[in-house]
Amino acid sequence: MTSNVRIALNRPLRRLFDYQVPDDLQLAPGQRVRIPFGRQSAVGLVVETGTPTPDNFTLKNVNEALEAWPVLPEETLQLLRWAARYYQHPLGECLFMALPPALRRGRAAELKTEPSWQVAGELDAIPARARRQRELWQWLSAQASAQPTKSILDRGFSRAQLNALRDAGLVTQGDQSPVSESPQPELAPLPPLTAHQQEAFQALPPPESGFTTTLLFGITGSGKTEVYLHYLEKHLADEGQALVLVPEINLTPQTVARFRRYFGNRIAVWHSALNDSERLETWLRIRNGEPVILIGTRSAALLPFTRLSTLVVDEEHDSSYKQGEGFRYSGRDLAIYRAQLNQCPIILGSATPSLESVHNAQTGRYGLVKLEQRAGQAKPPAIQLMDVRSRPLEGGLSRPALMAIRQCLDAGQQALVFVNRRGYAPVMMCFDCGHTMECPRCDTRLTYHRRDRAMRCHHCDYQTAATDHCPSCQSEAFKPIGQGTERTEDVLSEQFPNTPVIRVDRDSTQRKGSIQGLLERVNSGAPCILVGTQMLAKGHDFANVTLVIVVNADGGLFSVDFRAPEQLIQTLIQVSGRAGRGKLAGRVIVQTCHSDHPLLNALCKGQYLPIAGQMLAEREASHLPPFQAMAILRAEAGTMEASLRFLEHARNMAPAAQLDIWGPLPAVIARRADRHRAQLVLLSPTRAQLARTLSQLTLTLDQQRQPPGLRWQVDVDPLET
Ligand code: ADP
Ligand code: ZN
Ligand code: ZN
Repeated sequence: MTSNVRIALNRPLRRLFDYQVPDDLQLAPGQRVRIPFGRQSAVGLVVETGTPTPDNFTLKNVNEALEAWPVLPEETLQLLRWAARYYQHPLGECLFMALPPALRRGRAAELKTEPSWQVAGELDAIPARARRQRELWQWLSAQASAQPTKSILDRGFSRAQLNALRDAGLVTQGDQSPVSESPQPELAPLPPLTAHQQEAFQALPPPESGFTTTLLFGITGSGKTEVYLHYLEKHLADEGQALVLVPEINLTPQTVARFRRYFGNRIAVWHSALNDSERLETWLRIRNGEPVILIGTRSAALLPFTRLSTLVVDEEHDSSYKQGEGFRYSGRDLAIYRAQLNQCPIILGSATPSLESVHNAQTGRYGLVKLEQRAGQAKPPAIQLMDVRSRPLEGGLSRPALMAIRQCLDAGQQALVFVNRRGYAPVMMCFDCGHTMECPRCDTRLTYHRRDRAMRCHHCDYQTAATDHCPSCQSEAFKPIGQGTERTEDVLSEQFPNTPVIRVDRDSTQRKGSIQGLLERVNSGAPCILVGTQMLAKGHDFANVTLVIVVNADGGLFSVDFRAPEQLIQTLIQVSGRAGRGKLAGRVIVQTCHSDHPLLNALCKGQYLPIAGQMLAEREASHLPPFQAMAILRAEAGTMEASLRFLEHARNMAPAAQLDIWGPLPAVIARRADRHRAQLVLLSPTRAQLARTLSQLTLTLDQQRQPPGLRWQVDVDPLET
C-alpha cells in the first residue's frame, strides 16, 4: 500500500507535483522535503497527503523529509492557499515566500550558534604596523560582551585580521548567548490614557468577541500608539502572540523603542534590513509559539504564528503594505484574513484611512472608533493655501513661506519643508534648442543629482555624468527646471546660513543607520530646517516642529491615476500632521497653482472623513473600487506590439458578460528598462466573478506558449494603474 503526496515548488508554475512516499516516512502538509526534480533535486513543500496515483504513471519517491515537523503550520498554510487564489499567484511561490531565505534554500531549521570573540593578552603584543588588528582588538575590548564574527565583519574588519589575532591568542571565543536570552530590561508602566483615548480604547472589541475588524480613525498626534499599547497590555494573554504591522520600521525607530519600554524582550521586529540569521531566529521563535509581540513590515503578515490572538495594522492606508511585484499581496488584507482564521479582532489605525476601509466602515463591515483630539495640549495645525502662480519663487519657495520659516526659527522652533522629489531638479533643459535629457531605456526624463554630478533615471538603474553644456547643441544655456530636495536644501542653506538644514530622502539615508542619526538631530529640539520627501510624512513625532511648508501640492490633482487624489490628500494630511505635536501650535502652508481646487479647499477645513466621503462619491459615480473589484493584467515585451497583441488575445478569452474591460493600453510609463509595458484592466461588481474569470484566464495563458521575452502578471486590487 503506497501513499502519495502533492508537492509545491518554489517556481512560477500554476501546478503541483505528485510523488510517492517511501514506507518508512510519515509526511504531513506543510513539511519540507527533498525530491528528485528533473536531473537535480529540489526542496519542496507538502501541500496534500493521501492523493491518488495518476493513471499510467509511476511516481518518483520523495528522497527525505528535511525535518519531522511541518515548517508551515496549518493556519499559515490556509492563509497562503487563500492568498494564492485571491491574488492569482502560483501557490508554490506564495508558500516559499513565507519561509526565511535559509529555509527556502534547504538549510536546517535550527540556529547555528556562531562563535563570539573577546580579547585576551595585551594590545602591545600586536605589532604597530598591524593597524587594523590593533583597532579590532581595541574595539573588542571596549564591548560589554563577546562579539559574534558577524558583528566584527559588519564593523569593516576582515576575517584575516580576526584569524591573525586568534592564532596569536589575542582573542578567544567567548560565551555564546543567543539574543533571545538577553536579560529582560526593567519594564516601565504604561502612561495613563487621556480621557479621549480611554473612550476609544473602551470602544475597541475585546478578543472574546471573535473576528471583527475595527477602523481606529485617530487624527495625527492623537496617540494611537498609546491605545495599541493599552490594548495589548489588557487583552493579550501571557501565552498569546500579537502582530503589529507598520509601514517602514527604519523610518520610525521611536515606535519600536516605545513598545520595548513596556514589553521588553517580548517585542520582536521583522523588516527588510534583517540578515538571514536574524530572520531565521525570529521566524523560529514565532513558529515555536513563543509569546512574541511582533512589530513588522508587510511580509510579517506571512509569518508562521501558531497562537495569534491580537492584530494591529498601523497607518493602514500606507501603500507600502502592497507588494509591488511577483506575489502582489496586501499585508493589511492578509492580516485581516488571518484575524478571521484565528477568530480574533483586528484594529486598523490611521488618520487618513484608505477609501476602501472608510467604505467598509460606512457599510458596517468594519466597526469605526474615532479619536479626534490630539493628546496633551497639542492642537491640530491650521492649514493655509498659498497661490504661487504670480509669485517669484526661490528654490520653489515663495517670499511668505521664507518669512514664515524665519519667524519659526527666530522663535527657537523647527520647520519642515516637503518636496515631492529627490535629486536637484527633475528636468535639465536647453534654453537654446529645447533639448531635455531623457533616459535611453525608459520613457522618462533624467533627474539631475547635483551632489554627485549625475543624471539618474528614477525608473531603472541608468545613470550618466552631468554636463554643463547641452549635449545636443553645446549651448551653455543648459539649466535645471523644477524642484528636487537638493535644490531646496541649497536655497535654504543660502537663506539661513546659521541654521542646520537636514535633508531626509532616499539618497541621504542610504547608509544603514543614517536616518537614525538625522532624526536624533531633529529630536534634540534645536532650531533646524528639515527638507525631505514622503519619508518625512510617515509617523514621526517631532515635538518642536511648528511649521510645515508643502512646496508644491499640484502633482496629484490632475493625474491619470484614479487613486492620485486620495494619495495626495493622505500625504498632505500626514505631512501637515508633523506640525504642532508638542506644546506649541502648528501651522501649515501649502503652495499651489490651483488654490480654488475643491479638494485643496476641503483639506483646509482639516477634516478627513468628509473629504473621503466626497472622493468615495466620485468613485461610485465612475464605478471604480471599492464599488467594483479591480484587477490588472500586465504584460511586458521587447516591443509594444507584442505586449498589446498578447493582451488583446487575453481580452478575447475573457467572458465579456459581467465584466468591464478597459484596454489593452500602454502603461503610463510605456517603456521601462527597454521593456514595453501594457495593461488590461478588469472590473467586476462581484469579487467572485472576477476571481473565476481570472483563474480560468491565468490557467489558460499559462498553458499556452507565449512569444519569447513576453512576461505577464496579474495584479489584484492594484494600487498603481
Ligand atoms: P499618532 O500615532 O496618533 O499620530 P502618537 O502615538 O505618535 O500619535 O502620539 C503623539 C504624541 O503624544 C507622542 O509624543 C506620545 O508620546 C504623546 N502621547 C500620546 N498619548 C499620551 C498619553 N496618554 N500620555 C502622554 N503622552 C501621550
Ligand atoms: Zn541645446
Ligand atoms: Zn530609465
